Amino acid sequence: MNAGAFPFEANPNPVDPSERAARLVDPGFGRVFTDHMVTIRYSDDKGWHDAKVGPRGPLTLDPATAVLHYAQEIFEGLKAYRLADGGMALFRPEQNARRFQRSAKRLAMPELPEEMFLQACKQLVEVDKDWFPPVDGGSIYLRPFMIASEVFLGVKPSAEYLFMVIASAAGNYFKSGAPAISIWVSEQYTRAAPGGTGAAKCGGNYAASLIAQSEAIKQGCDQVVFLDAAEHRWVEELGGMNLFFLFDDGSIITPPADGTILEGITRDSVLTLARAQGLNVREEQYAIDQWRADAESGRLVEAFACGTAAVITPIGKVQSATGSFTIGAGGAGQMTQQIRAKLVDIQRGIAADDHGWVQRID
Ligand SMILES: *Cc1c(COP(=O)(O)O)cnc(C)c1O
Repeated sequence: MNAGAFPFEANPNPVDPSERAARLVDPGFGRVFTDHMVTIRYSDDKGWHDAKVGPRGPLTLDPATAVLHYAQEIFEGLKAYRLADGGMALFRPEQNARRFQRSAKRLAMPELPEEMFLQACKQLVEVDKDWFPPVDGGSIYLRPFMIASEVFLGVKPSAEYLFMVIASAAGNYFKSGAPAISIWVSEQYTRAAPGGTGAAKCGGNYAASLIAQSEAIKQGCDQVVFLDAAEHRWVEELGGMNLFFLFDDGSIITPPADGTILEGITRDSVLTLARAQGLNVREEQYAIDQWRADAESGRLVEAFACGTAAVITPIGKVQSATGSFTIGAGGAGQMTQQIRAKLVDIQRGIAADDHGWVQRID
């Protein structure tokens, strides 16, 4: 291990290799976990301390632990990929480290140094590299997170924190391109308001979005799309994915990240790739009525959602209390599939990494 490596304690009871192989046949997402985890503690008097990679296992928390009451919690999500040459890599992990710092700041939590965040992610993948699913496109999904761990019921920022990284095997959902999803427009619930926590990756945002997501499922849709909190007019994002709109003149729009939207790294990567191709890309507000009108007139040809977990997902149909409309032919559009293929090829070391996005682990 390199000089900055954390102390390592091997799991004395790792999952048996044949059992591991069985679990990796079809791991799905977020259910098959690896043998180890990273923990780093923080306290106001000691700062960051006690970093280690050890056996994965349950936490013991006092029932008065602050996070259980006031939801002072943030997280990240990123994938480790197997490269075409057999190596391993993370995709733009420094962006996750910096976003984690921004989220921490908003939630009145201490900022974990970027180097520690990167070391934690890389070392865990190295230790648990036998957990890459053998399928084409399989990955290890990393979940760094931080909780307020002080035992105290007073309402104030915690004086102690626990940072952790856990890892799970992720299969390749969409081997031959993602199928189009349908989305439900939430007119009753909003996700984020100006001045709120919409731009921070915190569990509380997700908790608040679940009722709208259940409503979407009840309506027969796959995902919910949120409108802005002030006017209920401007399209913002899904519960956990950013949005892009593609027009018949070749232009592309995504809602601007000005406080109520989570700045996705996939979003930024798509913006960068599209601009590098000379496309007309704009970060611009887009109204729900305009979306309907443009889909009906044919001016809007494709739309997609994007995020680390599912990469790029085409949107086929949009439904609300007042009716529904279809985008293009309702399937996966051609441009959407091209952008997805390009991004996935860079992540896997198949296409040239012109922007220095791929960080090797070995
Ligand atoms: C994590 C997340 C995204 C996607 O971000 P990526 O960095 O692309 O994975 C989008 N919206 C919300 C609300 C998120 O939490």
